[in-house]
Amino acid sequence: MILNPQGRCHFPLSGSFPLGKRARVGRSMFFTKLTTRSVLRSISRPRLLVVSSRSPAKYASRQFGHLLEPSQTRAVQSTLPLGPHLYWQDILVWQDVTTDDFISWRWQLANTVRTPTKLARFLSAVLPDTLAPSHDPRLQHIKTKDSFIGDALNGIGESTMTISLTPHILSRINWHAALDDPIRRQFLPLKSEFVPDHEKLTLDSLHEEADSPVPGLVHRYPDKALFLATSICPVYCRFCTRSYAVGGDTKKVSKSRQKPSRRRWEIVFEYIEKTTELQDIVVSGGDTYYLQPEDIREIGERLLSIPHIKRFRFASKGLAVAPGRILDPHDTWTKALIDITNQGRQQGKHVCMHTHFNHPAEISWVTEEAAKKLFATGVIVRNQSVLLKGVNDSAEIMGGLIRKLSDLNIQPYYVYQCDLVRGIEDLRTPLQTILDIEQQLRGTIAGFMMPSFVVDLPEGGGKRLAAAKETYENGVSTFKAPGLLGEKGERTYTYWDPAVQESLTLRTDNPTIVSENEDVLLPVTDPRAQETEQLVIGDMSNTNTNTNTDTQYFEEPSAQAAAAG
Ligand code: SF4
Repeated sequence: MILNPQGRCHFPLSGSFPLGKRARVGRSMFFTKLTTRSVLRSISRPRLLVVSSRSPAKYASRQFGHLLEPSQTRAVQSTLPLGPHLYWQDILVWQDVTTDDFISWRWQLANTVRTPTKLARFLSAVLPDTLAPSHDPRLQHIKTKDSFIGDALNGIGESTMTISLTPHILSRINWHAALDDPIRRQFLPLKSEFVPDHEKLTLDSLHEEADSPVPGLVHRYPDKALFLATSICPVYCRFCTRSYAVGGDTKKVSKSRQKPSRRRWEIVFEYIEKTTELQDIVVSGGDTYYLQPEDIREIGERLLSIPHIKRFRFASKGLAVAPGRILDPHDTWTKALIDITNQGRQQGKHVCMHTHFNHPAEISWVTEEAAKKLFATGVIVRNQSVLLKGVNDSAEIMGGLIRKLSDLNIQPYYVYQCDLVRGIEDLRTPLQTILDIEQQLRGTIAGFMMPSFVVDLPEGGGKRLAAAKETYENGVSTFKAPGLLGEKGERTYTYWDPAVQESLTLRTDNPTIVSENEDVLLPVTDPRAQETEQLVIGDMSNTNTNTNTDTQYFEEPSAQAAAAG
């Protein structure tokens, strides 16, 4: 087994494919039915391996220079080789990817993993032969790379969401301990971790479609509406509230997509214009990162032109999953956001961005630089987290996330109880968990940085503080929503805890790695763990900007085509 100093494991030097094999494998993947076995066969051996021993830190100062303040540049230079870590280079297929490439939105798009074939190839390159054992009894039988890949491919078939994994996200996962990794759990399902759904789980648990007076506009609160401008995201979260609409079809779900079409948007704008009690619009999806910069301007200027609209927010997980785009000098999405924000400020209207971090490990120095840029240019950013089992369901981790976000001037706004969404029972926590975490954290963090811990009430009751429950007995909690109009303001809403499962204990100890010779766990700080050669699988690194991907296992529109539609 080959390990690098960060405890990430890399593919052993075990052979090579002749280049001609690639085309044949690729063609068979395009035109034959994909099965787990066929995908595993196609990636069972690396195609080209190159030995390299260079240190990523050598490149830090020259690659950072244009992103940092002069004082920071000096700090980088003076602390080398301990300067900022080019973390994506731990994925050895990206060892030669520069900071300029990594922050490029086009590079992120081109290297996002969206298909089982690419996923299997990537996993084959990054997983160690033997995995760190899981704390989850359901996953303890997965011990090897091949069994992990097989379980992941089968997990995609079970999921309500397609996969889309940006290089940033792929670089933040500890692949050696991938079974229990909190980022992996959010975006890459394993079949063995699924548990039977509670009978109350549904695809549209918030009844958004029922609360939509026109397609793609949810109007639930008297003065606020949710505009679903697209149904595409840079990543797809397993637990997505909108799994009825977001992403491509899966084996389990045919989606009610909200295409970003001008005709549909016009109907939405007309409804907003004639509904004068509306003051606040959430522009969401999907993810507004997948709107073109001109779409951000068009939507922003249209909303600013409506006299009764006083404020709106663009919802995007982009800062969490592809933060480099905010710094990309060749991409104008951020400029459009900044310009609309400034126009709003000049008109006395509040425009901001809402984002979605769930775990501190999602945050890198690129994230920090992106957040600094948004803060410096006057863009207000708020964060909404979802409480997820095995991801952030402890006061230690949630508190760490809240403090980290506060340091980045990202307002921790909401922590949501996970919705009653089908296919994610393994990620839900009992209501008691959110109550306990809030109780433990309140008073330890400045009040204005404490998020509200809320339940988005099933069947469209809106957000209520978890602590505002009317009753909570035997895993069933009830709530009222008197602020809503008509029958909605009168009725009782019910949240059901998940059925009791075997507990998954969060790993808060130091990550561990498996010794090459001893098959025992070593702390990453152990010098034996740091003695390694680094290997590169040559043709996995895509530095061109062609965003065409190989065949989609599940039908999904090309992001760019849909965004332009
Ligand atoms: S980014 Fe938001 S809309 Fe997209 S999949 Fe995740 S939760 Fe759903």
